[in-house]
Amino acid sequence: MSQPPKSLWWDSLSKPLKPRESVNSNLNFDVAIIGAGYTGLWSAYYLKQKEPNLNICVFDASVAGFGASGRNGGWCSALFPVGLDKLAKQSDRQTAIRMQKTMFETVNEVGRIIEKENIDAEWQKGGSYSIARDDIQLKRAKMEANHFKEWGFNEDDYTFLNEAEAKERINASNILGTTFTPHCAAINPAKLVRQLAEVIEKKGVKIFENSKVTNFSQNQVFVNNYLIKTNFIINATEAYRSNFKKYKRASIPVYSLMIATEPLSQNVWNEIGLKNRETFADYRNVIIYGQRTKDNRFAFGGRGAPYHFGSKINPIFDQHKKTHEDLLETLIDIFPVIKGVKVTHTWGGPLAIARDWASHVTFNQKSNILSAGSYVGDGVGTSNLAGRTISDLILNRTTDLTNLPWVQHKSKKWEIEPFRWIGVNSTLQMAKIADVVEKKFKRETFVTKLLNKLRGH
Ligand SMILES: Cc1cc2nc3c(=O)[nH]c(=O)nc-3n(C[C@H](O)[C@H](O)[C@H](O)COP(=O)(O)OP(=O)(O)OC[C@H]3O[C@@H](n4cnc5c(N)ncnc54)[C@H](O)[C@@H]3O)c2cc1C
Repeated sequence: MSQPPKSLWWDSLSKPLKPRESVNSNLNFDVAIIGAGYTGLWSAYYLKQKEPNLNICVFDASVAGFGASGRNGGWCSALFPVGLDKLAKQSDRQTAIRMQKTMFETVNEVGRIIEKENIDAEWQKGGSYSIARDDIQLKRAKMEANHFKEWGFNEDDYTFLNEAEAKERINASNILGTTFTPHCAAINPAKLVRQLAEVIEKKGVKIFENSKVTNFSQNQVFVNNYLIKTNFIINATEAYRSNFKKYKRASIPVYSLMIATEPLSQNVWNEIGLKNRETFADYRNVIIYGQRTKDNRFAFGGRGAPYHFGSKINPIFDQHKKTHEDLLETLIDIFPVIKGVKVTHTWGGPLAIARDWASHVTFNQKSNILSAGSYVGDGVGTSNLAGRTISDLILNRTTDLTNLPWVQHKSKKWEIEPFRWIGVNSTLQMAKIADVVEKKFKRETFVTKLLNKLRGH
């Protein structure tokens, strides 16, 4: 059995890990779900809620929550990887706005189910800051706030706070301003995924762990050398999707890495702020993200770790000394008051990115195979929307969700190697260099424009 990743979140679980039963015979189900992360579990949750008689199973190669769902930054946000402009190009202005509003509602939906099902996920909906600590970042913050205004969103959804207002709430060094959105909650991701698995199990969904799917096609799934016959298959493997030969170039696994500090004293938090456990990021190119945990630590992460040739995924990639050291340095740079703090945990994991950075929910009506993923780093909320959408598609219900622009979206394939490796790693290097150059020379580089174009911002 592959061990669950060592992380702050897994160490915080109160129950010792006792793996569930593995597949050890041929079986029949109405719906077979591959992957017990949020996507797979939310799909099962809503299917069972809408059609209690359905016979549903979930397979995980490891244990429920082994993937990104158990080890992320714990932002349940309304962020969607595709910007409003790009969404409007794929559909129209009103549909793009509807997608964003649906994401706002999705954060509340996750909170509602957490409360309804008595899940202790350390949920606190305090909102989120994107701080600006130099002139270029300030320009971006103001532009972003204006952009949302132009799209018809008001100050209750997205607002800009000046230097004094920002300092009051998040006392980061050199802060010049910040944007704020209330549409984000901080959570303990492993607690959510492990308890969600228990909730659906109680509702009659069968979860098999240490049950790796080696192949699947219409009506059949192969697990541990056994055959599972089924009407519908949901591929909910996200970053691991590229391990299946036929999806090798559908998305790439990109590593995001995290650190957690020891709990910080009340005096330190009085200095820093983040009273409502607001999550935070800034406007650099190489993304960073953080939260104040319920037990008063920083959980802080970022991109920057290398992409591995051939889309390889390996637990040893969860550790990358240089990236973890850079993360600590960055965190101290933002909050110098924590200098000398002890790092108690370092970890990481893969997330999926499609060639056009677009997430998807797809349903092949000939084979009855569904898939959702490529959430970039925004899957905590988005996977809930995916689960609800998948349940509507399987039950043949036309709803407000089934005609959102990401449904049936097909991204083009990634390049073959070595072009993929060269392209992804050189873009990453350029983004890192652009951050240094922009900070030093206070001028936006072409790399930022390129990245924004890619993301549709
Ligand atoms: C370090 C990190 C930080 C992140 N931070 C945030 C954040 O703060 N906010 C946010 O919104 N998003 C964040 N993300 C992204 C988010 O965590 C993911 O988008 C989301 O959890 C995806 O859920 P999932 O269920 O689709 O995939 P996963 O949780 O990855 O689940 C896939 C599951 O499939 C299983 N599997 C794989 N192959 C097979 C197979 N062949 N057979 C059976 N099972 C298989 C795996 O074991 C795994 O459990 C982060 C990701 C990482 C890695």
